[in-house]
Amino acid sequence: MIEPSSKLPHVGTTIFTTIGQLAREHDAINLSQGFPNFDPDPALLELVSEAFKKSHNQYAPMQGVLSLREAISEKIERLHGRYYHPESEITVTAGATQAIFTTIAAFVRQNDEVIVIEPAFDCYEPAISLFGGKIVPLPLEGNDFKMNWSAFKSAISPKTKMVIINTPHNPTGTIWSESDMLQLQEILRDTNIILLSDEVYEHIVFDGKAHESASKYPDLATRSFICCSFGKTFHATGWKVGYCAAPKSLMLEFQKVHQFNVFSVNHAMQVALAEYLKDPQHYVNLGAFYQEKRDSFLTAIKDSRFKMIPSGGTYFQLLEYSDITDEKDTAFAEHLIKEHQLASIPVSVFCTGPYDKKFLRFCFAKTDAVLEKASEILNSI
Ligand code: GLN
Repeated sequence: MIEPSSKLPHVGTTIFTTIGQLAREHDAINLSQGFPNFDPDPALLELVSEAFKKSHNQYAPMQGVLSLREAISEKIERLHGRYYHPESEITVTAGATQAIFTTIAAFVRQNDEVIVIEPAFDCYEPAISLFGGKIVPLPLEGNDFKMNWSAFKSAISPKTKMVIINTPHNPTGTIWSESDMLQLQEILRDTNIILLSDEVYEHIVFDGKAHESASKYPDLATRSFICCSFGKTFHATGWKVGYCAAPKSLMLEFQKVHQFNVFSVNHAMQVALAEYLKDPQHYVNLGAFYQEKRDSFLTAIKDSRFKMIPSGGTYFQLLEYSDITDEKDTAFAEHLIKEHQLASIPVSVFCTGPYDKKFLRFCFAKTDAVLEKASEILNSI
């Protein structure tokens, strides 16, 4: 037996796998991992099945099917006013996680600093560590998880290679405003810092607000990788298809890694998505669809002992439990699964820096019946 020297000694199995397993063992209602418990539109499934029958069963082009890249380019231009050339500035990826990993792989070198705003989705940190980068964690502040822009400015050093942002934000459900984006743009101006903008929940924004894409802001766009997910938008997280947009010179470096990492992505799914994406009605109402779920979930638990600020975007709702127990969030999440058969995600797992708040993350991308059962449990605690 050889004993390998781990490149990621501090990394265990992801929280989504461990909590998912525990939820199954205890037959718990699973509001932990973020995925819908309902199917994509039958019309999209029909397009996929047609694509298989039309023999789109061999390798797709390395950058992605051109008609899909064209549809993505049109969508970004229509929504955010920025043109990305389909032939040189867009890549279809095996989910946004691959887009994020590949961006980090293409640019982060030994001892480069990467600013990560925490809590942060759990795939950023291991990728940065794997390439020898150093994480500079910057905590969101207060129970409403506000960004402190002067702390952000102070976190930048000559070694800062990259900044990772995520709006709408997983796990907190906060969204950034135009003023946040303008401050970010001003602070990064005249630097060589690359911006990795995780926008996978771009179409799930509530209360009449707009998604602030980095692509909308001229100086941010010149330095940004915009990483997005069809899984989140079309209720198909298992397909693992996403995309990434960036200016040509940056995308060239991205594709140098992409071509030897995955080479290309599921062909038939791309053909179907290209056709489906032509009709904006397929995604413009997604915010309203999930807002209804958020609202009925929050109304059902309004008299519970949990405290809540309504999620502003994503399909996650944080619940604060300091009126119920002093337990650490990991212990309380385990307790909820074992004693009450309800699974959620403790927010501390999304932090590498200090964190002492008392929040659990609940995914409300579920049918009404499941959300009702979950609400009954939450009201009984
Ligand atoms: N994005 C999903 C979440 O936050 C999980 C994806 C995954 O398990 N890697 O729950």
